[in-house]
Amino acid sequence: MATGSFNPFQMAQQQFDQVAEKLGLDQATRDLLRNSNREIHFNIPVRMDDGSYKVFRGFRCQHNDARGPAKGGIRFHPHETIDTVRALAMWMTWKTAVVDIPLGGGKGGVVCDPHNLSMREQEQICRGWVRAVAPLVGPLQDVPAPDVMTTGQHMIWMLDEYEKITGIKAPGFITGKPLGAGGSLGRKEATGFGVIYTVREALKEMNIDITKTTAAFQGFGNVSQHALKLYTELGGTAICVSCWNHHEQKSFTYKKASGIKFDELISITDRFGEIDVNKARELGYEILPGEAWIEQEVDILVPAAIENQINAETAPKMAKSVKIIAEGANGPTTPEADEIIKSRNIWVIPDFLANAGGVTCSYFEQVQCNMNYFWSKEEVLEKLDRKMTEAYHAVSNLARSRNVYMRDAAYMIAISRVAEACKLRGWV
Ligand code: NAD
Repeated sequence: MATGSFNPFQMAQQQFDQVAEKLGLDQATRDLLRNSNREIHFNIPVRMDDGSYKVFRGFRCQHNDARGPAKGGIRFHPHETIDTVRALAMWMTWKTAVVDIPLGGGKGGVVCDPHNLSMREQEQICRGWVRAVAPLVGPLQDVPAPDVMTTGQHMIWMLDEYEKITGIKAPGFITGKPLGAGGSLGRKEATGFGVIYTVREALKEMNIDITKTTAAFQGFGNVSQHALKLYTELGGTAICVSCWNHHEQKSFTYKKASGIKFDELISITDRFGEIDVNKARELGYEILPGEAWIEQEVDILVPAAIENQINAETAPKMAKSVKIIAEGANGPTTPEADEIIKSRNIWVIPDFLANAGGVTCSYFEQVQCNMNYFWSKEEVLEKLDRKMTEAYHAVSNLARSRNVYMRDAAYMIAISRVAEACKLRGWV
């Protein structure tokens, strides 16, 4: 959310401007790509459970759809702002382009706090959101998904409303649906596994045997859990995990130098990705301060919690042993930290490449829904692996051949693909 003086949309535009300059993009293409193609702002009036009426503010931004229907989640958050939605929509355009799936970028939101809303009230918001955008979204126009504080249940209400309005069955309208209601197998694993597919390829390029590596993870939610699971299955040694503790209102790092066993750690973790500190102590984990994960003598760092974690203050604390940073979270690294990482020659797998497994699997969900035929989990994960591996190598090859930073290489590929699609269509 945009807080204080930090404006995510300004940051997204700055990042774009820098790469546009490097690529020598013409002015019209820059003007087109630095803003959303279309924005919808609307009111969602809801009759509350106590009989009163309340009006919620909703948004949908379609940043660019030159490569295919816009794609991106819908957030429910009390501090949601149009600039957050604009930035996230733009980042979705680059994310879908870097993994080369035929989709564009979009994002939506509602200013509300689900903690203070009954399920009936949330359902009314979902249905009102769809009524406001229905003519401009759909399987061939714009495909929403869950994001912060929205779930498969919200998606099903939205789908139901869309199908009532259009009079057709259109399960490909929205992704992130529960299994058995149009969801895809493999979606749960997709983001975390995708992170590790890219780590595996990076290690191969460096001629490092994954079974001889160690890693530290930040976060133990959906992304980190599946990343740690696959990493340890491939033979890597995860020595610590850092996560939030809501009782203490601070984070802790849980360390087991001999190697964390996934099944053991998950058995003492709640559904919010919070590890039980007392049970961890009983199981022999060393309990360290939350920031300690970044200081460990490991080969690989996987920030997979929240943004702004590797910054000017924390980056100098990284151990000399670190060779790879695989960004599972969105925006974990600040531009100041990027300079430190570059000077230390650490190989970064940037967020919109490393964590693109989620949107890639959402695309698979849409494809399966549109053809009304569902693949096995093995088939989904095999297709995901192929996509992530190809995307990783395209970025890595460019970074090596042109001697550019991995983040810049990923942006260069994504922005060139979108700019080319706009040109081919005769837009600019
Ligand atoms: P989640 O809510 O399931 O888990 C978040 C984890 O981070 C929890 O373990 C929490 O305890 C921990 N955490 C929160 N604050 C922390 C702090 N200050 N220090 C240490 N740990 C902290 O979230 P998730 O779905 O795993 O997403 C994690 C990140 O990955 C986010 O940046 C998200 O935007 C990004 N992402 C997620 C997906 C996806 O498919 N879930 C896809 C792409 C990107």
